[in-house]
Amino acid sequence: MERIETKLAQIGSTREEKTGAINFPVYYATAYRHPGPGESTGYDYTRTANPTRDVLEESIASLEEGDRGFACSSGMAAIQTVMGLFSSGDHLLVSRDLYGGTYRLFEEWLTRLGLTFTYVDFCDLREVEQSIRPETKAFFVETPTNPLLHVIDIVRVSKLAESHGILTIVDNTFMTPYYQKPLTLGADIVIHSATKYLGGHNDVLAGLIVTGNEALSEKIGFLQNTAGAVLGPQDSWLLMRGMKTLALRMEKHQQNAMELAKFLQEHPMVDEVFYPGLPYHPGYHIQTGQANGFGGMISFRLKKAEWVAPLLRHLKLIAFAESLGGVETFMTYPETQTHADMPRDFRERSGVCNRLLRLSVGIEHVKDLKADLSEALTKAEVER
Ligand SMILES: *Cc1c(COP(=O)(O)O)cnc(C)c1O
Repeated sequence: MERIETKLAQIGSTREEKTGAINFPVYYATAYRHPGPGESTGYDYTRTANPTRDVLEESIASLEEGDRGFACSSGMAAIQTVMGLFSSGDHLLVSRDLYGGTYRLFEEWLTRLGLTFTYVDFCDLREVEQSIRPETKAFFVETPTNPLLHVIDIVRVSKLAESHGILTIVDNTFMTPYYQKPLTLGADIVIHSATKYLGGHNDVLAGLIVTGNEALSEKIGFLQNTAGAVLGPQDSWLLMRGMKTLALRMEKHQQNAMELAKFLQEHPMVDEVFYPGLPYHPGYHIQTGQANGFGGMISFRLKKAEWVAPLLRHLKLIAFAESLGGVETFMTYPETQTHADMPRDFRERSGVCNRLLRLSVGIEHVKDLKADLSEALTKAEVER
């Protein structure tokens, strides 16, 4: 089998047989002519299947080493589609440190339809096991988690799930298949906000699902076509164009993140740094066992909350913005941005406090990033 760098660079490159076009064309057609009654070219109506989206879906399935891929209009649409597997009365165990929008979908929408969710620390497998109920149908985890970068052991979690007939769903947004392939570690379904690293340029909103077996593929295929939150052909093309450089970008994100994590760790205004690539990180050994890298996300706590606002104001190069995974470095304040929809006590119990900042480290020159951080920190301390 080809290596992942090769698969990425060659996405769609051999698929257009008629012309040999190196990048696959965008098929805007919503409807497809049938050769005769009961006959089809394989394409009927674009919600069900679109040639451009097909190439993307086959690529992500191959990259994650899964059965089938499904492209959705956003990461949230992907999660919502997967949640269609469950019915009123079903219960899910969810990693407590979690993307705020996922928490909002679960608590403010799906609970109304009769699903229930319990949030547990998936680093503590005893807590997970004790929380399993007869009606528990799935585990839903992110690893490393957002924003605190706890590392969850996918192999052990999947084994526990399997022994209870429970599905394991992993949001693999932070790692991407370049660094981590949850299906090869025992998970059943992988989800991506492809808006982040896979797209990589802060210019396309997209979500992806990959299933680990045929039975799940059938069900997710039905849900995708029935709900219809599919990714449009233009965005499918844009996402593939971004994915071609994923390997190069992830290496650079990680290299820069490692340097910035060390820089922040030594900075006198910084209290704690969370980066799974630092050997003292509690999840370091699990991370090196299940992934080929550490990624480009760092969180850190300042010593004083009153430094946060002036720091964000004084950043010049680093954007104070609410996303991650792009080539540009972003700083996020989870308390008021990504995690604002979580109740305060829930947020604080998971460790998201008013001194916590999150960095999505880009691919700029690391010296420029350090200089920007250093200057903004100094000004924040002077000014307050
Ligand atoms: C952004 C994000 C989502 C939601 O994806 P959208 O593409 O914004 O809908 C889900 N999970 C994680 C980990 C994310 O970072």
